[in-house]
Amino acid sequence: MNILVTNDDGIRSTGLQELVKALSEVGKVSVVAPDQERSGMGHAVTMHRPLRAVEITGIPGAVQAFQLDGTPADCVKLAVEVLLDNRPQLVVSGVNAGPNLGTDVLYSGTVSAAVEGLIMGVPAMAVSIADHSKAWLGLDKAAALAARTARVIGEKGLPEDTLLNINLPRLPSEQIKGIKITRVGIRRYRDFVEKREDPWGRPYYWLTGEAVDLDEGPDSDTRAVKDGWISITPVRFHLTHDEFRKELAAWTLH
Ligand code: MN
Repeated sequence: MNILVTNDDGIRSTGLQELVKALSEVGKVSVVAPDQERSGMGHAVTMHRPLRAVEITGIPGAVQAFQLDGTPADCVKLAVEVLLDNRPQLVVSGVNAGPNLGTDVLYSGTVSAAVEGLIMGVPAMAVSIADHSKAWLGLDKAAALAARTARVIGEKGLPEDTLLNINLPRLPSEQIKGIKITRVGIRRYRDFVEKREDPWGRPYYWLTGEAVDLDEGPDSDTRAVKDGWISITPVRFHLTHDEFRKELAAWTLH
């Protein structure tokens, strides 16, 4: 199986390197990843400047690797279209430093890279650890799970418009309770914007925020990870509110 690994933390990320090593036991792994951190870019694509790809070596387990000065979605597009010798049969994005739970999937470059895989007709999964500190607790477990999952996807496939979003709790491997199959919870951010001042006295703003989980049902991804489980959610992007179309058609809009 030809596997494309990408991420949004940048090609030098430990999470990506360990993922490549583990997946090299399952198939031929190629890497196309951003040359710098591109977290929180969602599904942004670069259309108003050129993109440069530099082929690099030194990623153990990778048969081919490129760093790209673009977004995670750009990486998947270029990988499939032009850069790689072999078309990938699976896209694996991660391992991300930080969770991608609930509404995070819309902000996440990690998940968006997997979505781009689906758009290009390649099955995909995203793998994240709920730990922003880059202590990488449980990274060995995350990489091993990604490899096992890749193997099963190779055998069984995935529904056409569906990716797997995998999140591990911030726990040492031996303390993780197991795996729960979940649904996307509802996470909002109590946004706060920090106002600061630059050395010339001009204000600047730092966007941050605290996660507030509004849907803590037992099968939500947010709850599962808080309780020490690995969460695996089958995510798809069927965006139309089908049931509401009829009612909307009855609105007098013209
Ligand atoms: Mn990230």
